[in-house]
Amino acid sequence: MKYVLVTGGVVSGLGKGVTASSIGVLLQACGFRVTSIKIDPYLNTDAGTMSPFEHGEVFVLDDGGEVDLDLGNYERFLDLKLTRDNNITTGKIYQSVIEKERRGDYLGKTVQVVPHITDAIQEWIECVAQIPVDGKEGPADVCVIELGGTIGDIESMPFIEALGQFSYRVGPGNFCLVHVSLVPVLNVVGEQKTKPTQHSVRQLRGLGLTPNLLACRSSKELDDNVKEKLSQFCHVPSSSILTLYDVPNIWHIPLLLRDQKAHEAILKTLNLRGVATEPNFKEWIATTKVYDKFHEMVRIAMVGKYTNLSDAYLSVLKALLHASTACNHKLVVDLVPAEHLEDDTSKEDPDAYKAAWGLLKGANGILVPGGFGDRGVEGKILAAKYARENNIPYLGICLGMQIAVIEFSRSVLGLHDANSTEFDPKTENPCVIFMPEGSKTHMGGTMRLGSRRTYFHVADCKSAKLYGNASFVDERHRHRYEVNPDMISQLESAGLSFVGKDETGKRMEIVECPSHPFFIGAQFHPEFKSRPGKPSPLFLGLISAACERTIVPASNGYSKLTNGIHSPLLKAAAAHNGNNGFKSSNSSLNGVYTSTTTNGVC
Ligand code: GLN
Repeated sequence: MKYVLVTGGVVSGLGKGVTASSIGVLLQACGFRVTSIKIDPYLNTDAGTMSPFEHGEVFVLDDGGEVDLDLGNYERFLDLKLTRDNNITTGKIYQSVIEKERRGDYLGKTVQVVPHITDAIQEWIECVAQIPVDGKEGPADVCVIELGGTIGDIESMPFIEALGQFSYRVGPGNFCLVHVSLVPVLNVVGEQKTKPTQHSVRQLRGLGLTPNLLACRSSKELDDNVKEKLSQFCHVPSSSILTLYDVPNIWHIPLLLRDQKAHEAILKTLNLRGVATEPNFKEWIATTKVYDKFHEMVRIAMVGKYTNLSDAYLSVLKALLHASTACNHKLVVDLVPAEHLEDDTSKEDPDAYKAAWGLLKGANGILVPGGFGDRGVEGKILAAKYARENNIPYLGICLGMQIAVIEFSRSVLGLHDANSTEFDPKTENPCVIFMPEGSKTHMGGTMRLGSRRTYFHVADCKSAKLYGNASFVDERHRHRYEVNPDMISQLESAGLSFVGKDETGKRMEIVECPSHPFFIGAQFHPEFKSRPGKPSPLFLGLISAACERTIVPASNGYSKLTNGIHSPLLKAAAAHNGNNGFKSSNSSLNGVYTSTTTNGVC
């Protein structure tokens, strides 16, 4: 097994995750099988308890692992199926060491960070790297490890120490360190400053790790003399100093690496010869070219809870992008804050109310994503009602499906207080109820998580057709509440159709409204398995139904997004939010959020 470690220096948010995934793509293009590990030095055992509005979305794996969103990047970029163990956290490592200590495995020894924690980290890496994650048998050739955080963080010290020991253990020719750093450009003179990178490399070396390649984020290509200077001070050959300058979308990064011959430097360090002499990027480039040619737009209103953090709905945005690419349309996503659709906002902030409804009414399709907690629920219900009554294509994911059922119960069955017991535990008409797989009394560990099977009960329904007339489908879940099985016959006789159920027939997985052009809710999260070139069927259904609707431009005067580039106003706001051009961004404009997801089909 060969290892590529990606570390980051100077500041956070440099795009280490995208760089690491792109290195994986480059190695795959050279004919190697790749796996990946993400190290998060925080104390949480997993991302499941972390707010998506602080930390970005919680990505869910087939095995039910709730992991950092970077694992989503790896799965999408490299078309892998990772396991929960591919995400290492300080919490997991300490937990395993403390469990061993309690079992008496250390036999009277003093248990310490060095060597016990550092040994546990190395064992974990070595063991997980062997798990095949690309559908083929046997371990991959190369394991790309991304160390979260920035060199010098107190939290990451045990990991740095462990990785230093690990590089020595696996030996030269088996370990390659790529350090991602920042080369700021001083605006007045346009000078590229190397000092922050010099300091960060010095720090890295002081901790026992020597970089083989430097990947420098900068607004433009590094001048040759700047590379020479970095080479001299950081002891990295200038041919191994790469510039990751700003590009319109993250899809360009693997090509940027290839153009700078990163693969040659990496393969040389790893004593590997490319199976293919030149990386094969034919498909990759073809898709980029096709994408650049789209002129027509499809406009989706995503009704959710928004803050300044862009990544809370990352996989949903990517899945929309995969589907719109397959439909030959440029994607425009209008982020509609659910609360702004509510009647209270019309009094408190009439402009925000008007703007939110303007975006909703200007969309070709409406999507209500997953969510927890009652903020914005009434606004989401209004959005589902608008979509149902006006024949607007609607896709409800998890909470979005529950919302569709609540709305239908209220408007069509006339049960005005119908609700989920998550939001109104005392409602007389609980159309969505707590249906844990485990304990009924304890919230902890009761989430229905990971891959579960859905059987199609109605053969000629839209979703079965979208899934290629399959009789069942495996998708990923993350929820506690579900449609109340006692209300199914009532809901079905009024016009809903529960076309997908679990193996017991008690858990409703997919609902459709057959009289509507496209009104589908899924209890699972189809976004987690969407891939570029292999869009999720339900997203494809939404986008193709939306493409058939005539484009109605947003009437509120807020910016429109074209060609995947932010309008100047959004661009400024994105810059203000610290967006670095690598990740999708959103921004707040007078309380209206608009987003583009077109900065990378992956
Ligand atoms: N809050 C809802 C539940 O727990 C929906 C969860 C979700 O959308 N992921 O069932």
